[in-house]
This record gives sequence, C-alpha cells and structure tokens, in this order.
Amino acid sequence: METSGSRSQAPMPGPSEGATGASTGTVVVVGGGFGGLYTAQALTRERRHPPLLLVEPREQFVFLPLLYELLSGELRSWEIAPRYDTLLANLGVGWLQDRVDRIDLDRRTLQTASGRSIPWRSLVLATGASVDTFGVPGAERHCLGFRNLADVQRLQERLDLLRRSGRPLQRLAVVGAGPTGVELACKLADLAGPSIVVELIEQGETLLPQSRAFNREQALLSLQRRDVRLRTRTRVVEVAADRLQLRLLPSGEEQSLAVQGVIWTAGQRCRPPLISPTPQSDGCGRLLCDQELRLLGRDDVFVVGDLAAVPQAPEGQGLSLPTSAQVAFQQAPVVAANLLAHMEGRELQPFRWTDLGEMLSLGRGEAALTSGGITLAGPAAFQLRRLAYLTRLPGLRQQLRVAAGWLTDWAA
Ligand SMILES: Cc1cc2nc3c(=O)[nH]c(=O)nc-3n(C[C@H](O)[C@H](O)[C@H](O)COP(=O)(O)OP(=O)(O)OC[C@H]3O[C@@H](n4cnc5c(N)ncnc54)[C@H](O)[C@@H]3O)c2cc1C
Repeated sequence: METSGSRSQAPMPGPSEGATGASTGTVVVVGGGFGGLYTAQALTRERRHPPLLLVEPREQFVFLPLLYELLSGELRSWEIAPRYDTLLANLGVGWLQDRVDRIDLDRRTLQTASGRSIPWRSLVLATGASVDTFGVPGAERHCLGFRNLADVQRLQERLDLLRRSGRPLQRLAVVGAGPTGVELACKLADLAGPSIVVELIEQGETLLPQSRAFNREQALLSLQRRDVRLRTRTRVVEVAADRLQLRLLPSGEEQSLAVQGVIWTAGQRCRPPLISPTPQSDGCGRLLCDQELRLLGRDDVFVVGDLAAVPQAPEGQGLSLPTSAQVAFQQAPVVAANLLAHMEGRELQPFRWTDLGEMLSLGRGEAALTSGGITLAGPAAFQLRRLAYLTRLPGLRQQLRVAAGWLTDWAA
C-alpha cells in the first residue's frame, strides 16, 4: 500500500537537474491528494504550462469520500484508488514517489526523505491533514484509523477476526461523530453481524454539528435502525488494547468500556514539511494564506486543500472554510490559474467558495443528501451520490474507466 521508497517517472521537459529532472523553472506540487493532484491536472490543461513535478509518497491517489464503499465491497480498489502512474501518464507531469521533509523558501529548494534536493520556481503546498488524537493516552498505539487503503485493510481484517471468533457481545467503538465517524459506524454496523455491537462516541452534545438538519436527522435514523449505540457528551480519556476509559460530561463520572477495536476519527491536524522561514499557521497547523491562495508574504508559493487557512471575507475575517474535498476541488483550478497568472504577470483572482451541499453515506446502499434546496435519502440518494462522485474522479480517463465498469456490472 503506502511506501516510503523513492521513484520518479516521466522525464521533465526543459533543462534538468538531478534524477527528478526538476530545474529552477519547475513548478513543484507537494502532495497528490485532492488539492495537489487536481491542481497539477488543471495546470496540464493549459496549453503552455511550465515543467511540473508532483512529489507524493503514495502509489495510489485515494478518493476519500468513497472509502466507506471500499470497506463494504460496494466499490473496488481500482475505482477509488487509481495509481499515480496511470493518472499522470502522458500528461506532462513528473511524479516523484517520495516525501518532502524540508522546504527552504529563500533558496527555493526542497529536501525529500530519500535525500534529494529539488529546486523550484513556484511551489504548491498540498500535504493535507492527518488525524489528531489530542494526546489521549494510548490512542496512537491502540486505535485504528480510517484515512487510507492500509486502514481499510486493517479494519477488514479486524472485522473478519471478530466475526470468525463468534463470541457474543463484541464491541467496536468509533470515536467522533462527525461525518467520517457517522458514515463509518453505519457501514460497520451493516458489515459486523449480530455478535458485534458498534458504539459511536462523541464528546459534543450532538452528532454532525456542522451538517444540515435533514442529513443529521437521516443519520440519526440510520444509526438507530442499525442499533449503533450513540454516546454523546462522552469523552475518551484513555485507550488500552481491550478497553476505553470514558468520562461523562458534564458530571465527570468515569466509566470503563470493554472493546475489541477502536477507530479514531475525531479531530485533525496539519503537519506540513518543515518550512524555513517558518510561515504563519493557525491552531490546527494550517498555513495562513491570502484570498488568492498564496502563502502569506510569498507570491511564488500557493497552498491548497486542508492545509490552507483562507480568509473567507474580503476583510480577512474568519479562517473557517470546511476541510473538505469539495473545497480542495474548487480551490485547485484557482491555484492553477493564479500560478500561471503570477508567472505571466497577470492579475490574480480571489478564491470564493460555493457551498454545493452535503452528501452522506449511511450504510450499504443508502445515503442522504442536501443540495441546492433538494433533500433526498435512501437508495436513490446512494445512486445520486455515486453519480455525483463519478464526475469528480480525477480525470476523464478514470471517470470513463469507472463508468464502463459500472455499466458492465449493471448489464451482467
Ligand atoms: C474517510 C474520509 C471521508 C471523507 N469524505 C468526504 C466527503 O464525503 N466530502 C468531502 O468534501 N470531503 C470528505 N473528506 C475530506 C477530504 O477527503 C479532504 O478534505 C481532502 O482529501 C483534502 O484534500 P487535500 O489535498 O488537502 O489533502 P489529502 O487529500 O489528504 O492529500 C494530501 C496528500 O499529501 C501527501 N503528503 C502528505 N505529506 C506529504 C509530504 N511531506 N510530502 C509529499 N506528500 C505528502 C499525502 O500522502 C496525501 O496524498 C473525507 C475525508 C476522509 C478521511
């Protein structure tokens, strides 16, 4: 799955330096998730684009909103996790399979984990966010995550183990009742079988506090139908291999809960490479940008996706755009256009987010969505959600491959 090795593909055009072929004229995109990959792809759609290099340690892009369907077997790995070498073939983007460790803004160079030093002309920072366990003792060690293909495999193995053991009243706990926790709890409950109870633990007063009322209601119904035990106002204060220590709020009373597995989905934090001079960041590690998505104080460095703390209002108030694929997807073409505008001395455009609504996966074959005044739940919403995401998959080639696969399944 994830590898830490280093490998490069597609020689870069123009004068080259080192094994990556990157030159001082190269635009380097750091991180190939929604923000980085879609920015690189948007740049290649411009007839005269600069030499491009994507540095990304993973072998496959992962379309995270459909990770639940990979867990449940409703979708296949090649559909939601295409390989970078396939996605970038013949696009004129070099891909270096490596991790960026350090960035020197003054010298315009970056260092990778495998020891490469790469010069750049402009930089796109898109290293996303990772889970934050808030220093809860035992959480890092004992919890499973749900952010990548390896996490899915580990969770499938755990489910298999529990199902095979056949012991009654086994418990899987999901920590955090945001969208990931709720969607995952519904899928797990469908997959778990009668001997496994799914618990959803949330320290806040309600599940999905940021969601639309309709989606929240549908989520609650879906959890109830699946006998998922929702514990709100409950904080996880310690995790051990076989139990959770819980603190009830506001009383402070503590309880111990025996568990056979814990999946941590609460909270996230950005951990970008070491950058010097140190840029300004917010409390979650997101880098402060201007409205044109430039790193504050730099006109040659852009930030996109979860890593970008972008002022929403013109006067710079509020740095609270949701960290979502939807935002990254909308930012990518703006970053691409602004990067080219900067190089060609044209005026840059500010980023304006359009809220397109919210879709939730709520168990096998079910979903809820609220968008543009329309609300829908159940199997029809599930199919619509799949279709909507089909049009968001990275690149027409991948969209057509997946559509062809679905048509073949449907005809069989
Ligand atoms: C399970 C799950 C479900 C989700 N569902 C939805 C949904 O339904 N709708 C929605 O809008 N959003 C959803 N999100 C959120 C959404 O996926 C993120 O907001 C989105 O992926 C952000 O894009 P990004 O490019 O900033 O980061 P990411 O997509 O996380 O990509 C970051 C990339 O950077 C790479 N990277 C990290 N560090 C380095 C480094 N040092 N050097 C080089 N590369 C590096 C990583 O390997 C990764 O590929 C979901 C998230 C999860 C985890």
